[in-house]
Amino acid sequence: MSAHAFSTAGADYCPFMPVFGAPSVMFERGSGTELWDVTGKRYLDFLSGIAVVSLGHCNPAVSDAVTKQINTLSHVSNFFANPAATKAATDINQLLHETSGQWGQVFLCNSGAEANEVAIKLARKFGGRGRYGVVSALGSFHGRTLAALAATGQPAKHEPFQPMPEGFRHVPYGDLGALEASIDPSVAAVLIETVQGEGGVIPATTEYLRGIRRLCDERGLLMMIDEVQTGFARTGEWFGFQHAGIAPDVVTMAKGIGNGFPVGAAWARRDVAAVFQPGDHGSTYSGTAIAGAAVSAVIAEMRRIDAPTLAREKGEYFAQKLVQIDGVEAVRGQGLLRAAELGPGRDAKAVFTALLERGLVTNAVNATSLRLAPPITTPLEQFDEAVDLIAGVLAEGVGL
Ligand SMILES: *Cc1c(COP(=O)(O)O)cnc(C)c1O
Repeated sequence: MSAHAFSTAGADYCPFMPVFGAPSVMFERGSGTELWDVTGKRYLDFLSGIAVVSLGHCNPAVSDAVTKQINTLSHVSNFFANPAATKAATDINQLLHETSGQWGQVFLCNSGAEANEVAIKLARKFGGRGRYGVVSALGSFHGRTLAALAATGQPAKHEPFQPMPEGFRHVPYGDLGALEASIDPSVAAVLIETVQGEGGVIPATTEYLRGIRRLCDERGLLMMIDEVQTGFARTGEWFGFQHAGIAPDVVTMAKGIGNGFPVGAAWARRDVAAVFQPGDHGSTYSGTAIAGAAVSAVIAEMRRIDAPTLAREKGEYFAQKLVQIDGVEAVRGQGLLRAAELGPGRDAKAVFTALLERGLVTNAVNATSLRLAPPITTPLEQFDEAVDLIAGVLAEGVGL
């Protein structure tokens, strides 16, 4: 079906560069947690485009705000201001103030990788000459642009693109001693996820995150938290760092911040942001009015429904049900960022495929576990529906 669906110049022609593997389904339409493919088949989306459409597909509040904005003003360049982007940056700053007790400043961009590029450049400018190193964790994911890829703790992803940019080192996730040992005078910052998302939905412990905060304070390093996947209520708090009660120096965001509109942001404490001067960074699309409208609509709607509380409560409900399924050995994660561990005898990819055929969208985040990150707006009946589908597939012995 995919070859036929993509066919524009011959049966086997695919217009996309071959970096993603062959997609098995083409989706045409979505509403809330439901998706429909081009044949009209219905699915429940328990991946949310990888933790992106946290308010559901085509959320009316977000769609209306974006539609109104695109019919009012879309883009004027950074030589000028526009009210929508200014409001978005103010809203993000207000949220970071409420959650970390600090005021800062925002750079708006278009993706998580770009947000991390800003963090890495900030770290280098903050560190000064000779102090440019960024320590991140093995198993981490920070994006695909070259510096974000260099920060990503997955050596196999580096290999085809050597040489990587300099100044990156990786330590085992969760090992504070290893992190401390990796710090020398060339290190300027630590970049860390509070839950490793792509790495398998592995939450950091509170002690680890507090330990990093303490080390960064002692050594004068920036604690930079990549909240691209964990941010915007996904884990049951606005940001993952809140679970540990710490205040980061730099926070990067994307995914859920736009509910599907491509936008990202880097936030830094005011004295940290102050190391940037005009010309140090930029992007044509930094702070377009449309992106600004999307961000403010997402924050307002998440506040209105109290998305962090919903994610926490529904996440508990879902995890309780998942862990009771025969064939689920454990459930990891926080809020509505979860992984069901199927155990070493089970091929998660086969389970993913069977679930997709039955109309449930998930992701085999590693060889033996399924990532589940449904929209926060998902009604409880649809959690039950998903649990029944997973239980059914596992009971049939799929993937054994
Ligand atoms: C997805 C992700 C990124 C990269 O975001 P893009 O928008 O794909 O560039 C970075 N960090 C984390 C933690 C992510 O989950």
